[in-house]
Amino acid sequence: MRLIQQLQHQVLALHLKRNKIPLKLWHQAIRKMPIMQRYHSSQRMQIRLLASEILRTKHLIAIKGMVFTDEIKVIIATQAAIMVYGFELAKEGSAMSWLRNWSQIIVYPMPFLNGRENIVSPNGVLVSQSGLESGETQYQGGIVIDWNDDKPHRLRAHANQVLMHEMAHKLDMLDGDTNGHPPLHADMNEREWFMAFEEAFESLCQQLIKGRKPAINPYAATNPAEFFAVSTEYFFEAPAVLKRVFPAVYHQLTLFYKQSPQLD
Ligand SMILES: [Zn+2]
Repeated sequence: MRLIQQLQHQVLALHLKRNKIPLKLWHQAIRKMPIMQRYHSSQRMQIRLLASEILRTKHLIAIKGMVFTDEIKVIIATQAAIMVYGFELAKEGSAMSWLRNWSQIIVYPMPFLNGRENIVSPNGVLVSQSGLESGETQYQGGIVIDWNDDKPHRLRAHANQVLMHEMAHKLDMLDGDTNGHPPLHADMNEREWFMAFEEAFESLCQQLIKGRKPAINPYAATNPAEFFAVSTEYFFEAPAVLKRVFPAVYHQLTLFYKQSPQLD
């Protein structure tokens, strides 16, 4: 390991020692997160360290009457940490480096107005629409979520992971375009990624055109970027569903996120 990397690791280790989420608070928070049950103790330890680092380096901002408790902040940071902890295994940089294009999470206690205008293109396509949202990501901004829609829920019957959905958009944006194609790891195959996602996207669109029940949330059919973000929600929150309906997409996401939620 080069000297500069050794120093970076030492500085990070020092920060982690000083800022680690207290054990009692950590257990209190993850007890409310069914998603954490799939991780074994060493994975949980890694996730706790990453969540601690996210709390130290990112700003969590409560607005419009949202009241933060330490437990809510830990749950939000832990959701983010779950999504990226596998990246520690990637050669392309640490997990935190994959979060480099955002610095804040703005949290509403309710759905919020997106502040956009209704814009119709010259050929009649609605390209921008005003309305209420439960999550939003801006290319040069932070992540905005509705806590009431995102908080862990034991009875949730479908994938609905707002923060992970928005973080998926941020990962997608790391290589410039928001097109459902994040920068892939060197050991992944671009062609296989495109084949898996294009086929599944087309299949979902066909289900909707033919009036059939869609295999996953039909919002995924909006465009390939939304398909990737919605697939990410299913990958973490309803992995068995994604693996059953779009196995090739599930497989590509195991390679990308470097974890297999359905098997762990
Ligand atoms: Zn989206």
